[in-house]
Amino acid sequence: MEKTKAVIERGTVPVAQLRAVVEGEVLVPGDAGYDRARTVYLGGMDQLPAAIVKPAGTADVARVVSLARDRDIPLAVKSGGHSMFCLCDHGIVLDMSSMRDLRIDPEARTAWAEAGATTGEFTNAVAEHGLVTGFGDAGSVGLGGITTGGGIGYLVRKHGLTIDSLLAAEVVTADGELRRVDAEHEPDLFWAIRGGGGNFGVVTRLLFRLHELGTVLGGLLVLPGTPEVVAGFVDLAQQAPEELTSIVNIMPAMPMPFVPEELHGTPIVMAMMVYAGEGEEAEKAMAPFRALATPIADMIEPMPYPAVYPPEDEEEHPVAAARNLFTDTLDTDDAALILERIRTSTAVMPAVQVRVLGGAMARVPEDATAFAHRNRNVMINVAAIYENPEEAGTHTRWSDELTAALQKGVPGVYVNFLADDSRARIREAYPERTWERLRAVKRAYDPTNLFRVNNNIPPAENGGS
Ligand SMILES: Cc1cc2nc3c(=O)[nH]c(=O)nc-3n(C[C@H](O)[C@H](O)[C@H](O)COP(=O)(O)OP(=O)(O)OC[C@H]3O[C@@H](n4cnc5c(N)ncnc54)[C@H](O)[C@@H]3O)c2cc1C
Repeated sequence: MEKTKAVIERGTVPVAQLRAVVEGEVLVPGDAGYDRARTVYLGGMDQLPAAIVKPAGTADVARVVSLARDRDIPLAVKSGGHSMFCLCDHGIVLDMSSMRDLRIDPEARTAWAEAGATTGEFTNAVAEHGLVTGFGDAGSVGLGGITTGGGIGYLVRKHGLTIDSLLAAEVVTADGELRRVDAEHEPDLFWAIRGGGGNFGVVTRLLFRLHELGTVLGGLLVLPGTPEVVAGFVDLAQQAPEELTSIVNIMPAMPMPFVPEELHGTPIVMAMMVYAGEGEEAEKAMAPFRALATPIADMIEPMPYPAVYPPEDEEEHPVAAARNLFTDTLDTDDAALILERIRTSTAVMPAVQVRVLGGAMARVPEDATAFAHRNRNVMINVAAIYENPEEAGTHTRWSDELTAALQKGVPGVYVNFLADDSRARIREAYPERTWERLRAVKRAYDPTNLFRVNNNIPPAENGGS
């Protein structure tokens, strides 16, 4: 009888107990705010957690972690909610968006940020002091997710990955302990959270180095979609000074006022350019891109750095079949293939995104952080946004086939861009030695794999992996 009771209690969320021990909000199905709290960036996510906890602080995080561990309750951790792995059915979601305090020290050029803050709000706040940390290309992404995966954005060539500006963090591990981690304290854990994702605990606060940056020369450059332009752009971006980073989308032209009507629906090159600085050098670096072909639109101008994050529509929840790969080159044959596949895709919006890497990111030794793809030249994302769930197979096949066709034997995938291919490809996200070390750190800090709603790294088994 006792045993049966214990079995029933394990895995069941004790909502009354949760409400009694937690200072923050606890939302359950039927509560006002519950559906909003389980709405994430991506569409098609419909998990029904038994409780969503919005912690009031670190102590709440520790209480929830301990309770989930003791009762064997599925636990998901969510900061910005931009991944496929921040919700779970039946279990508890720890919604870190209630923890977004920022403490900026302009003199020391550092900032402590709670993990639930978004990259956009952090960027706006530090910009008031003429300072910056590089994140990605969207301001709504959460600090917790992007940082623990690496962070590749508009300053990657100038200042490296987001994790290359991470000085320290506070992490609640599976034993419920709050740990300060940095180069001196628990260095293995500090290493692991810089690229190993949310596998090792709940990151509650992050200490970032801030870099001086005010105005940038940046904005959208729209060029004709020809193989020569695409391949030429990638060549130029590799030769450009490190101050210049671009994110290029090859996609059908939307009916935007600056695009001539006859081009609507045909593939064009939409390049978001950022030169970290302004003036003559910046203009000089930008000139060859502008000269690749007569631009369809040239909106590059001096702007405050936070303007690189365009306003976003909170009600937009796209469903996409997305794949990621690294490569060293992208020639005119590859470019022609991309343009042809974009033309023939039946998705609402097919797109191929190309990011030229290198610079500061490549100067960090491969084993310094759990993100190890330091020497990859180019990262490509293939995505097909679609509406009808019955078409999932068609668009996934399209993304898979184009990804395979662009593969040139360069290993690796960026963990933050893994999607429903996570289980099949998680091993590709880390070289062998990195993977073994991650599994050993996982075993030390989360031996029962409490933190498994993520791009999961299983703990090493007894005596090794
Ligand atoms: C529109 C869009 C644009 C993007 N652009 C870029 C880009 O330019 N560069 C780039 O590098 N990435 C980019 N990404 C990918 C993004 O970095 C990842 O999806 C990231 O995981 C999102 O973080 P999040 O906190 O918003 O998401 P969440 O879904 O909340 O979290 C993502 C993962 O991290 C874990 N996690 C979250 N918070 C914590 C925490 N506090 N402690 C421990 N684990 C935690 C979660 O459990 C989950 O597994 C983009 C994604 C989208 C949807």
